[in-house]
Amino acid sequence: MRRSFKFLLRPTSKQAAALAHCLEDHRQLYNAALEHRRIAYRKAGVTVRYGDQSADLKHIRADDPGGQARWSFSSQQATLRRLDKAFAMFFARVKAGRTPGFPRFKGRGWYDTVEWPKDGDGCRWDSQPHHPVTIYVRLQGIGHVRVHQHRRVLGNIKTISVKHEASRWFVVLSCDDVPAEALPATGAMAGIDMGVASLATTSDGDHLEHKRHFAASAGLLAAAQRGLARKKRGSNRRRKTVARVAALHAKVRRQRLDAAHKAAKALVAGYDLIVHEALKVTNMTKRAAPKPDGNGGYLPNGAAAKSGLNRSILDAGWGVFLTILSHKAESAGRELIAVNPANTSRTCAECGHCARENRVTQAEFRCQQCGYEAHADVNAAINILRAGLALRRVARAA
Ligand SMILES: [Zn+2]
Repeated sequence: MRRSFKFLLRPTSKQAAALAHCLEDHRQLYNAALEHRRIAYRKAGVTVRYGDQSADLKHIRADDPGGQARWSFSSQQATLRRLDKAFAMFFARVKAGRTPGFPRFKGRGWYDTVEWPKDGDGCRWDSQPHHPVTIYVRLQGIGHVRVHQHRRVLGNIKTISVKHEASRWFVVLSCDDVPAEALPATGAMAGIDMGVASLATTSDGDHLEHKRHFAASAGLLAAAQRGLARKKRGSNRRRKTVARVAALHAKVRRQRLDAAHKAAKALVAGYDLIVHEALKVTNMTKRAAPKPDGNGGYLPNGAAAKSGLNRSILDAGWGVFLTILSHKAESAGRELIAVNPANTSRTCAECGHCARENRVTQAEFRCQQCGYEAHADVNAAINILRAGLALRRVARAA
């Protein structure tokens, strides 16, 4: 199992300055490599590949002994590979018939990570193993930097990255072969329905992570963005508003991540088996097409409920949550099943009657046949659990 560990770095002021130079030089390398690809393509229709750019590194380093040559060759290669990946994703989207944005230049403050692809190559974890109390990481061109290691590192370290976040420096270790830390069995199973009012609702009726605080941040964000439109380009006040928008975005991201971790942790602690909807997140939050009702008006299509909250928060929220949940479930030895969500929200969990009319409102479910009443998300979660158990029976019989 692969897993990452993130620790705060405690650089000296000299090391902090070197870290800033290191990050800035990698950013400039990224932008220069991007410029190279653009020009070659525009002027000569030539596609520059990673191999070409990696071969150029030798010259770049030779020409800049006090600058680029200070840093690890391998971390520079990782930077070029990162750009290569951005291009690969861009072309994949073009091929899929979408119209993605061309890979962008990274402005100051929009490039926050340097990766060393292999421990021992331009970097060394635990570089002073005989030090009695402190753990250090050695980074080429920067030195032995103190690490605030608040937990044990498990598995084998594959890559080491340095990340600049909210004016602090972190080291991120990506490890392979991390042993699972199995949790004791609880004998309980749950289906979860992912919704709008709360991130997830369990078949036991628990609502995980209400979105109220997101809504508050989203409101502030929207207001700040509106303010941005009124400010003059290049003005000081505009710059301040841009910074505020970025800070709010970061805050929403942190809140979302934190809430997703908490919700996933609670689920994994409580249940041996968790069944969730197989979501195509992008499809689910796509604005639903209006359906004419035949009288010149439109039938409800669920679009209002989904555009009520900041859509970007929803979009990313479910994907992030499922990723975290699957990591935690694997690590704890829990079983996770994804099921097709078709009809789970309109089928009665009591009698099986399936009708659109069963769903009275966003929150209310009332079966038109047997009269069963429940919170609509709880009803759906029960159906999801049942679908998961059926899938498992089929898989085991096969
Ligand atoms: Zn019923």
